[in-house]
Amino acid sequence: MDTGRDIRSFNQVYINGYFAVPHGTQIIDLINPSDNEVIGKVTLADEIDARNAIAAAKDALSTFSRTTKEGRMDYLQRLHACVSRRMDDLVAATVLEYGAPQERAKGSNALAASIFLHFRDVLKDFDLITTVGTSTVVLEPVGIVGIFTPWNSSAGSIAVKLAPAIAAGCTTVIKPSEMSAMQTQVLMECFHDAGLPPGVINIVTGLGEVIGGALTTSPDVAKIAFTGSTQIGKVVAKAALDTMKRFTLELGGKSANIILDDADFTKAITMAVAACYLNNGQACIAASRLFVPENRLDEIKRLVRAAVENIKVGDPNDEAVTIGPLASRRQYGRVQDYIRAGIAEGAELVIGGEGHPPGLERGNFVKPTVFANVTPQMKIAREEIFGPVLSILTYRTEDEAIRMANDSEFGLIAYVSSSDSERAGRVARQLDAGRVLINTLSHDPLAPFGGFKQSGIGREGGIFGLREFLEPKAIITG
Ligand code: NAD
Repeated sequence: MDTGRDIRSFNQVYINGYFAVPHGTQIIDLINPSDNEVIGKVTLADEIDARNAIAAAKDALSTFSRTTKEGRMDYLQRLHACVSRRMDDLVAATVLEYGAPQERAKGSNALAASIFLHFRDVLKDFDLITTVGTSTVVLEPVGIVGIFTPWNSSAGSIAVKLAPAIAAGCTTVIKPSEMSAMQTQVLMECFHDAGLPPGVINIVTGLGEVIGGALTTSPDVAKIAFTGSTQIGKVVAKAALDTMKRFTLELGGKSANIILDDADFTKAITMAVAACYLNNGQACIAASRLFVPENRLDEIKRLVRAAVENIKVGDPNDEAVTIGPLASRRQYGRVQDYIRAGIAEGAELVIGGEGHPPGLERGNFVKPTVFANVTPQMKIAREEIFGPVLSILTYRTEDEAIRMANDSEFGLIAYVSSSDSERAGRVARQLDAGRVLINTLSHDPLAPFGGFKQSGIGREGGIFGLREFLEPKAIITG
């Protein structure tokens, strides 16, 4: 649907310190998910653009890899300042093109800006040369990094890869989601303003299979840092293996939230609903499987229904709204399929269900939905839905809760609620997840983030994140 009103063009790549018109000529529509109107036309980069970006990153690497710690800390500081300066533009783009509610858009972009400072501080105290045994171990930059990011968390996913790459002395080619062209335009301008040497940061927005092919097969690219679905993560990893690239993969999730019988249920349920509906439910860390004591199910259902009734779905510009539209019509259709599957498989619909909330038919809005009496084999209990759909499963014993929580191909994050910290800690240690949050939804940017099992390989954030961009070299002297 093209109304002809206020349609912007996004027709730039950023290569070797310059904004340029892409060599690629394919144009796609950028759609506002709140009303499905066209808000932009995006000219996609192609393989030639990707190759030019790799060549620029290669030229820059020999000098940038030898910069000092202090120099790179200064670059990180500048990146933070430039992204912070454009915060209002970044938030507006995140709300308009992606449909993130105000609070989420502000929080996630502020976090993205702060990541550059976190890595400046991590680098400051990090020894790039150490002694191990009788050897000197030098941690060298891994080389050129190809960065792939999804549409659900654009600036944050880029920052958490770009910042450690810069800290380590690597150069980069970034391939953001083509659905994030407006946020990418702001970020490109921020990065340019930061004044890093040409070729250290290059950005090419294009289709995954086109740019992905060029980056994953190039012998010049040493590492892939990818955030996205498990399915595409495998495609990328397989392609990258032929040239033996290093990779970090941040993939999907189906996170478990265990409410133990001694928890404060009112608090725990409010948190459980927020943890599932985070980012309109389009979060890899969404706590979409809620495990509750079987004998307390009725009480839980009452509390959940009350919590969901209080949620305002609608225009993401409205400060009171906590659930905006899903990012695309495709995503809306996918989530509707899962809701239908839940009903067809015999789960009990506690609240929500198929279709749009009344009055919100033009956008990709879904009804926040909760299913109870979900069994572990149901599709809605096993697959990542990526929408505001919560599945409640019941357990009889603590051991059974742990077993059921671990019965998943994913293992990104897990949540536990309990009034007994020792007990919660004991449960946390038995969960197969890269992170376990006890009685909280807070984020620790310095702690490692990443998945067990098919939720990924490697870690982002803090020292663990920085190490992923460094290659150890042992020097043994006779
Ligand atoms: P996606 O896997 O479809 O795409 C991710 C990126 O890969 C995009 O830039 C896309 O253009 C690119 N891509 C697509 N096909 C490619 C190919 N053949 N080769 C190379 N690149 C290709 O994911 P999405 O739909 O954009 O994002 C949603 C998914 O991301 C969810 O599964 C979610 O769980 C996951 N995610 C994970 C984390 C995490 O940190 N673990 C964070 C956010 C999102």
